[in-house]
Amino acid sequence: MTIPVNEPLMTGNELKYVTDCIETNWISSAGKYLERFETAWAEYCGQKHGIGVSNGTAALELAVEILAFPKGSEIIMPSFTIISCGQAIVKNGYVPVLVDCDPETYCMDTSQIESKITKRTVAIMPVHIYGHSCDMDPILDIASRYKLMVIEDAAEAHGGEYFSKKAKAWRRCGSFGHLSCFSFYANKIITTGEGGMVLTSDEKLAERLRKHRSLCFLKSPRFLHYHIGNNFRMTNIQAALGLAQLEYIDKTIKRKIDMAKKYSDLLKGLPLQLPTQRGWAKNVIWMYSVALKQFEKDCLKLSTKEYEKWPNYKIMDRLAEQGVQTRPFFIGMHEQPIFQGLGYFKDESYPVTERLARTGFYLPSGQAITDAQIDKTAAALKGLFQ
Ligand SMILES: *Cc1c(COP(=O)(O)O)cnc(C)c1O
Repeated sequence: MTIPVNEPLMTGNELKYVTDCIETNWISSAGKYLERFETAWAEYCGQKHGIGVSNGTAALELAVEILAFPKGSEIIMPSFTIISCGQAIVKNGYVPVLVDCDPETYCMDTSQIESKITKRTVAIMPVHIYGHSCDMDPILDIASRYKLMVIEDAAEAHGGEYFSKKAKAWRRCGSFGHLSCFSFYANKIITTGEGGMVLTSDEKLAERLRKHRSLCFLKSPRFLHYHIGNNFRMTNIQAALGLAQLEYIDKTIKRKIDMAKKYSDLLKGLPLQLPTQRGWAKNVIWMYSVALKQFEKDCLKLSTKEYEKWPNYKIMDRLAEQGVQTRPFFIGMHEQPIFQGLGYFKDESYPVTERLARTGFYLPSGQAITDAQIDKTAAALKGLFQ
């Protein structure tokens, strides 16, 4: 029997709330669960407004879209992230500008940001990776000095925290951006199946987000349009799932952290880089990630076409043979054929991202995983090093 890389577990009021939606016929994109989830999630994360959307990719697209920068504006983002981030920028007619990631937290290397700022820079897009917060103080400091917007992607860090020296307080991921984006995909800490949200504390931005989420209808006359919008609406049923899960998010995060402790104990001593936690972060370990420390250096030169020879793929194949499902790390934005084809990132290299793409993968770490499955996964991985 295969151990799935992720399986959600719903143990609260999910069924009760969804049933209520169906019994009352509030199944579309209006209803009390949507309002309650938007309000509750915004409050949990430390922002004033929540705008529920259909998924995390839509959240990013919407956030970038409503800022309405001049075409060709540049947004600084990490090379090590999901394609959704780069796409949101390119689809809106802006230019993604990359920085490499930190070799231990995998979040954007904040020391590289300032050298990438030009006259066209309008925003920074920090992405918290695998549950660990970005180092937000320097990012916010640069943003305020250069008057840049901050579009935070907190899809992987629900409930994750950062100690802001400036604010002298712990703050949740998603509280920092002018706009912050979340996904509630099935493998995220809170899931609505598919779903997402944009948070902001700016009333005007919130209004624009709501408008552009729903085809830019006017209040009256409804069917007169001055702007191109989207149908990115979240349903009341999705929100019912989200609200039910938010009620026990502490338990969910505790399970993630306990799971990680168990994995880390079992994998101790192997030539693997395990998840880390800087003093200023509370890592919610969205996924339990490992990166190989020992490999032939030549493999770092293997192209994306030769991915089957990458050290992580070789190990993942052998784990799959033993019934352990895994997922590789992200492949850098600069190595994506779609962006290269569009002429971006020519001759650019981000060595940390390139190494992680070829050596990193994550282990089964969904809520439904059992301790026995963790034992089996760790044993299978250990066996490959003997
Ligand atoms: C999952 C994820 C997204 C995209 O969310 P979807 O709901 O799958 O569209 C965006 N950013 C990050 C960092 C993610 O992990």
